[in-house]
Amino acid sequence: KLEPIRSIKKAPVEEFYQSGHRTCQGCLSALPMRLMAKAAGPRTIVLGTTGCMYVANTTYMTTPWVVPWMHTQLGAAGSAAVGTSAGLKALMRKGKMKDEPINVIAFCGDGGGADMGLSAISAALTDIEYNLLIFLYDNESYANTDIQTSGQTPWGAVTTFSPPGKKFRIMQRRWKKNVPGMLAAGHPDTRYVASGTPAIPVDMMDKVRSALRAGGPTYIHVLDPCPKGWHYDPEHSNELGKLAIETGIYPLYEVKDGVLNFTGITKQIAEGRRRRKPVREYLEKQGRFAHFKNQDYAYFQKKVDEMWEQWIIPCVVAFSYG
Ligand code: SF4
Ligand code: MG
Repeated sequence: KLEPIRSIKKAPVEEFYQSGHRTCQGCLSALPMRLMAKAAGPRTIVLGTTGCMYVANTTYMTTPWVVPWMHTQLGAAGSAAVGTSAGLKALMRKGKMKDEPINVIAFCGDGGGADMGLSAISAALTDIEYNLLIFLYDNESYANTDIQTSGQTPWGAVTTFSPPGKKFRIMQRRWKKNVPGMLAAGHPDTRYVASGTPAIPVDMMDKVRSALRAGGPTYIHVLDPCPKGWHYDPEHSNELGKLAIETGIYPLYEVKDGVLNFTGITKQIAEGRRRRKPVREYLEKQGRFAHFKNQDYAYFQKKVDEMWEQWIIPCVVAFSYG
């Protein structure tokens, strides 16, 4: 039985994603794989779409995965999850395998899930027949192919597609797409939607367990600092993940059967027990924002303030009435 994980002491010691992968030093996309596998346990099948967590994890004849793992196409997290879950259900119904709970988790990056595979994820989240978890690791770029802009790249960030020029200092002028909010708001039958980050591991592991207990369909979005794409020293990965929450840029929450709850630091901010840190503290630690001038920091702060003051889920869902 997958009990809640409320403290690090409650986390299992067994590892199902081990050493042997070749991600960059300080990669916080590898850590959520480890935490997710730890929380899910041995009766789990993991499906991985193309991205850093496919390529760096499957060097010829090696793998860090202890549980069964399969690669699937770049935009296919949703369809692979539905297909695998349906296959298991059919085999169990026909008595060809033991009838027992098996977790089906399909992961994807922001390029594969928030952009290319969004339609398949949307379809999976309407399919109440099957137990599955879609786990999107968001490093805010197409990191695997050398840091191109994705729908999750923040306003103003430098990528290989958005270098600052002489005429335009800010080349990435779109505000980040609100994927967990969009999926929560648009898929009323989805049992569980949450946001997390491996920088706050207990909260993230507990959300994986909550999703798996809920059954399906479920979705978790995790924000993963990426030293290569965000241009910072790898030792700051955890600090940046935490600052994203403390500044209010990325809120932590869960939507369980349609009911919204903030968690951790975001809950403290939402209840007025903690003040948001200035976004500048987060932005100026990353080389991708090194070209920012005072007016750029001010614009970013204004947008985040607006989300907290005017939106129902800060940074995620905006509604207006009347
Ligand atoms: Fe991790 Fe970023 Fe390196 Fe990819 S590019 S392996 S996400 S640190
Ligand atoms: Mg990515």
